[in-house]
Amino acid sequence: MKPSIASITPFTFQDYPEHTACILWFSGCNMACGYCHNPELVRGVLKKLPMEKIEKFLQSRMGLLEGVVLSGGECTLYRALPDFAAYLKKMGYKVKVDTNGSNPEMIANMIDQGLIDFVALDFKATPEKFLQVTNFEGYDKFYRTLSLLASSNIQHEIRTTIHTRFLNEDDVNRMIGLLEKINYKGTCYLQKFRDCETLGNIGAQTRKFDLSAIRSPSFNLELRGF
Ligand code: SF4
Repeated sequence: MKPSIASITPFTFQDYPEHTACILWFSGCNMACGYCHNPELVRGVLKKLPMEKIEKFLQSRMGLLEGVVLSGGECTLYRALPDFAAYLKKMGYKVKVDTNGSNPEMIANMIDQGLIDFVALDFKATPEKFLQVTNFEGYDKFYRTLSLLASSNIQHEIRTTIHTRFLNEDDVNRMIGLLEKINYKGTCYLQKFRDCETLGNIGAQTRKFDLSAIRSPSFNLELRGF
């Protein structure tokens, strides 16, 4: 299956830490998080960009941009992703993958082949709430991806979106405990939900998340948007 890319953000200095990059937005996702702010992308209703257009764009930015962010949707749904990453690496780009963690085999394979430089992994919820938040039965897959990253040398970060309809302060403290249990040493970002159109039409939060109830973890915990 060829990568199905629906749009390109030609420049970002925010999505790939300390690098200039572009973002390729892959359509389709195997999860359906109520707070997802890319409903059209996830439903796969956006028109796919022709590969020639994508290649032309990437060639025009060679030597100008440092990296390419593969985002979505869920880019690991595409079996051809490793080949596509190899193509990007050949052009001299660093490759960052944004993933929901549902394809640990592909991530492991790409790390082994030196096709990924950075992974941003979503930590959606505790095992008990994972299905409720994502509509996807696959916490074990996410957990395998998490363990893989935690024990690898690959640069990575973990992100958790906070919408109080889905996660409360106890949930987040439990998630911190789960990360400590695997001796996680990277950075985890708690990102505040941005009120916008969402996949689940969930609307704004009805109460403020109480950051003072979140305990200090043994790893680096950062806030985004709070
Ligand atoms: S927020 Fe959920 S539904 Fe949206 S792209 Fe990410 S994993 Fe898929």
